[in-house]
Amino acid sequence: MAIDKLRQKIGILGGGQLGKMLCQAGSKLGLDIHILEKDTSFPAAQVCSTFVCGDITNYDDVFTFGKEMDIITIEIENVNVEALEALEALGKKVYPQPAALKIIRDKAKQKMFYESGDMPTSNFEIFKNKIEIKNAVNSGTLSIPFVQKLRTDGYDGKGVHVVSEPSKLEGLLDGGSIVENMVDIAKEIAVIVARNPSGEVAVYPPVEMHFHPTANLVEYLFCPSDITSVQAKEAEKLAIEVASRLDVVGLLAVEMFVTKDSEILINEVAPRPHNSGHHTIEASVTSQYEMHLRAILDLPLGDTTLVRPAVMVNLLGEPEYAGPVIYKNIAECLKLPGVYPHLYGKKETKPFRKMGHVTIVGESLESAIEKAKFVQNTLKVIA
Ligand code: ADP
Repeated sequence: MAIDKLRQKIGILGGGQLGKMLCQAGSKLGLDIHILEKDTSFPAAQVCSTFVCGDITNYDDVFTFGKEMDIITIEIENVNVEALEALEALGKKVYPQPAALKIIRDKAKQKMFYESGDMPTSNFEIFKNKIEIKNAVNSGTLSIPFVQKLRTDGYDGKGVHVVSEPSKLEGLLDGGSIVENMVDIAKEIAVIVARNPSGEVAVYPPVEMHFHPTANLVEYLFCPSDITSVQAKEAEKLAIEVASRLDVVGLLAVEMFVTKDSEILINEVAPRPHNSGHHTIEASVTSQYEMHLRAILDLPLGDTTLVRPAVMVNLLGEPEYAGPVIYKNIAECLKLPGVYPHLYGKKETKPFRKMGHVTIVGESLESAIEKAKFVQNTLKVIA
């Protein structure tokens, strides 16, 4: 019965901003959410019902925390999977399931999973270290350009090295990696899917990343995306297929490339709330955070309809500042209707540190983008 489901103890590994927003959504439903994280300076500590200090990559810390819970979930993939397996064996509900997490955490296993299921993705090869990669180039079995990705622990572009020309071989990363064909990317999109244990599936409309024309950085994300309705349907279908084949419960964010030949290729997935779904808090009927909680509690999934066009901009620490944070010109931005800042509550800013994000909604996508540009030029994270 629903009331019993709502009383279950939910443990989240990780206390970053995604954990914080999960807690905020959980609070709306009166849920009992516990966070495991290193120390209380992490964003989720401000809003969770219980905060347990511990290392999410340590077996004992995760196991001890998890055995007091009914359901264990994550807000980051870099957690102790062996402890999650032991908790699952104890009969705890662990979502995403450790089996899926093990595939997703390792980019080589992830690519092999797509390949074995005949799911579209760029061609790739697995290498033990950078010397092997250099040897392959020298012997002519590997040709430039290509993209090198460390198998594990990469995030936000760290752990990815683009070898566009021979001189870039110097910057090869050391460690087990995959090397992918360079894709001729026209657009980068993401689709979030939710699944609950009863087999219900919900899918959000695709979100598109807009890159800065000169600096190769994501400037903002927007929804609805500027792809055809046929492509959007294909992307949604593909995302559902990946989630179903992984048999994952909870959210799965599927990042994809639309190529210049209009092909859709899977890039990578994340089994948790994702930055491409931040806007769902203000712009969708059901936010991705509430959706994840509904899914892991085996409640009916919510409506994924986009109510109004939205843009999301990240708030990064300005390059030349480090120290106690100041959000300069926030008042100017708050004067605009439809501007929703989410400040993560991190006390100290550092160059390029993710300090928050702003969701901007508008009557039209154009008006939302115009306001988003004003916010980007006006709101600065300094010390
Ligand atoms: P991360 O896990 O760090 O986010 P991604 O796999 O998303 O790493 O790669 C980061 C960025 O590098 C992508 O958003 C894309 O712009 C570029 N990229 C990744 N793979 C390829 C590829 N095979 N071809 C061309 N560009 C790529």
